[in-house]
Amino acid sequence: MAGPTDLDKRLLALLHHRDAGLAKGEAVALPITATSTYATPGSPQAEYTYTREGNPTWSAVEDQLSILEGAPCVAFPSGMAAIAAVLYTQLKPGDTCVMASDGYFAARALMDEFIVPLGVKVIYQPTAGVEAADFAGAALVWIETPSNPGLDVCDIAAVAGRAHAAGARLALDNTTATPLLQSAFDLGVDIVAMADTKAMNGHGDVLFGHVASPDPGVIETVKRWRKLSGNIPGPHEAGLVHRGLETLDVRLERMCTNAGVVAERLAAHAQVSNVRYPGLASDPAHALAAKQMARFGFLIGFELASEQAADAFLAACGGIVTATSFGSVHTSAERRARWGDDVAPGFVRLSVGCEPVEALWAEIEAALETLA
Ligand SMILES: *Cc1c(COP(=O)(O)O)cnc(C)c1O
Repeated sequence: MAGPTDLDKRLLALLHHRDAGLAKGEAVALPITATSTYATPGSPQAEYTYTREGNPTWSAVEDQLSILEGAPCVAFPSGMAAIAAVLYTQLKPGDTCVMASDGYFAARALMDEFIVPLGVKVIYQPTAGVEAADFAGAALVWIETPSNPGLDVCDIAAVAGRAHAAGARLALDNTTATPLLQSAFDLGVDIVAMADTKAMNGHGDVLFGHVASPDPGVIETVKRWRKLSGNIPGPHEAGLVHRGLETLDVRLERMCTNAGVVAERLAAHAQVSNVRYPGLASDPAHALAAKQMARFGFLIGFELASEQAADAFLAACGGIVTATSFGSVHTSAERRARWGDDVAPGFVRLSVGCEPVEALWAEIEAALETLA
């Protein structure tokens, strides 16, 4: 009988991370410490003094995140706050950053509108093939894999090797995969910045994010930036994420299994073209994804004949809520061209949730039949 894997042990540790610190009679569920300040008679040296600097509810969620990442973590009020923390602390005037051209649009907008005017140069490269890009002179390489919304994949270990040879640090936005499906630091990543708004929290009721890094200097600077910029998470949000993370493993297992079934059936359906799912053997990203991901995720991209067909499908489908964002227990989807993404007008990004898959597919199939 094979014993527990390292990941199994970490998931157990995540669920029991507070046990050892509990005094007799103390609440087992994480208390939400809603306070701006802490009693500090005499000398002000204490674990907590003022919530812009630290709060026990963030500490608890950071402990969970660190167990998942296998590296120290700093919590932020959104994914973009985490991304901003890395861009503002790791780039200085004169630096060059190589960044995914097909990654999260707000990260690129932050770069173009606020970081570049400070004297940073950015070179955009598509995710597919970034392993072969020129990193000479770069201080930071920023990747997102699988990319959102195109679901292209790059070889993280290969990018890390080439980035490090060029003297650059490698940052990964791991939002679409999560640390459970893709172990960034084992693949040579230096810094993770990602949204916990999506699958990590998983219930669509909070925005949250974190930065992780095995480099103590990066963590210290990012923490200092959080304190001085005031870009801090609220304790109530941290409490929700703490609860969400307790079921991450079971939610992802169901979501990824469901997505595999739905992707196969979409790919075989007459109304559907250009299905992208890294788990499909025919997908251009399949070989790389199989090499570096534990499972293939819960996001599927596909095309319907036109904007009208995609809108009619979404309106007709009882198992899909039309909304932006992804990673929730509820299956959701949207037509990405409505945001100006560089995709076909009938391109739908589908985030598969935790519904029983046959019930979900019955709704999807019935909605597709209305297009015939
Ligand atoms: C949603 C998302 C973000 C930003 O997260 P917010 O919590 O909305 O700020 C960053 N990167 C990716 C890939 C995302 O999908």
